[in-house]
Amino acid sequence: MEHQVELLAVGTELLLGNTLNTDARDLSRLLSGMGLNVYHHTVVGDNPGRLAQAVEIARSRADVIITTGGLGPTCDDLTKKVVAQAFGLPLEYHPECEESIRAYFAKSGREMTENNLQQAYLPQGCTVLENHWGTAPGCAFCVDGVHVVMLPGPPRECIPMFREQAVPYLSQLTQGVIHSRTLRIFGLGESGVEQLLRDKMNALTNPTLAPYAKEGEVELRITAKADTVEQAQAMIAPVEQEVRAMLGDQIYGADVSSLEEVVVPLLARKGLTLGTAESCTGGLIAKRITDVPGSSAVLRGGVVSYTNAVKSNVLGVSQELLDSQGAVCGEVARQMALGAREVLGCDLAVSTTGVAGPDSDDWGNPVGLVYVALATPQGCQVVELHLGGAAQRRDRVRTLAANHALDLVRRYCEK
Ligand code: AMP
Ligand code: MG
Repeated sequence: MEHQVELLAVGTELLLGNTLNTDARDLSRLLSGMGLNVYHHTVVGDNPGRLAQAVEIARSRADVIITTGGLGPTCDDLTKKVVAQAFGLPLEYHPECEESIRAYFAKSGREMTENNLQQAYLPQGCTVLENHWGTAPGCAFCVDGVHVVMLPGPPRECIPMFREQAVPYLSQLTQGVIHSRTLRIFGLGESGVEQLLRDKMNALTNPTLAPYAKEGEVELRITAKADTVEQAQAMIAPVEQEVRAMLGDQIYGADVSSLEEVVVPLLARKGLTLGTAESCTGGLIAKRITDVPGSSAVLRGGVVSYTNAVKSNVLGVSQELLDSQGAVCGEVARQMALGAREVLGCDLAVSTTGVAGPDSDDWGNPVGLVYVALATPQGCQVVELHLGGAAQRRDRVRTLAANHALDLVRRYCEK
């Protein structure tokens, strides 16, 4: 039987735009990965009347309702009460939940206020979903063929709880899995990828092949539906091979979330150290490298050489050059990278200098003109980038510039 899932997020903060409904995004991904179809996302405030209404609508069109939020100890937390009432279930005291709540407070060394014990009341006959990441337990029950799962709102509780506690409950409803593998591409736009792979994409139904544009990159997702993950993986593998044969080193990784996540282990494997000299990216490259665990083994350090004085005094960029050409030119990028390699004592150094916007610089260089250089033991490579175009945002120019710099490092290491 095909199930129809509705996600019902409860929280006025979501309606006010103060909090992004990331639970809906993350739960949707997880649910579709389990082969459950999510047909509706609903958001409702902390209001009993409108919540009750939303529950009625949800149960009229879905047979699996997953609520998030409103399970806490304060008076605006009314999800349990309203939902249980809608399904005709009284709330029932669970002594084992009180124990876990008390234990949670004891462990975190905080004083427990009495209102926290409200959280030990759950719909009669439900399956308790334990919360090892916070105090509010969740629950699951089924009335008249409609399954209801309630989860707390904070993502760091909701998502791990879903994985650990709700998945076993829900997997009795599903047969088969939907499994994906995501190839990440840098250096080709979405339309380029689509053009190359259009025939392949049209010909495939299971697995499917679909590109998604991301900030300056493309994700190519291969998705298979099968009885088990292993079977799905076996169906995905030959498609991945074919795609790799067509796109080659434009693919920088599979099932990774960023270039830096690939670059750091790659540098470590090659035994190479990296340094940065950043002007327009203002430290973003070093920041992204240090986001990755294990970066201390590869990153020597970085210089944020925003002013010409620092470019020349710290990195040794020629003052005459800066005076005559300005800071945004290929030769400055080259001298920055070479200087950083010296000063920081690293094997490889990347540099960026450019115009992030919103205005062109004093030299009339347009927004989005960026030079990226990579200094290596073999020499120095400079790339000129035009990242501008219609109303390009400052942060986007910087992100793209950092992507190009990281990709230069990746390609060097993969050679
Ligand atoms: P609650 O479980 O309603 O007490 O939610 C507590 C906090 O979790 C809220 O203040 C939000 O910051 C966060 N939160 C609630 N619902 C969501 C949601 N759907 N997505 C992301 N964060 C949420
Ligand atoms: Mg709330």
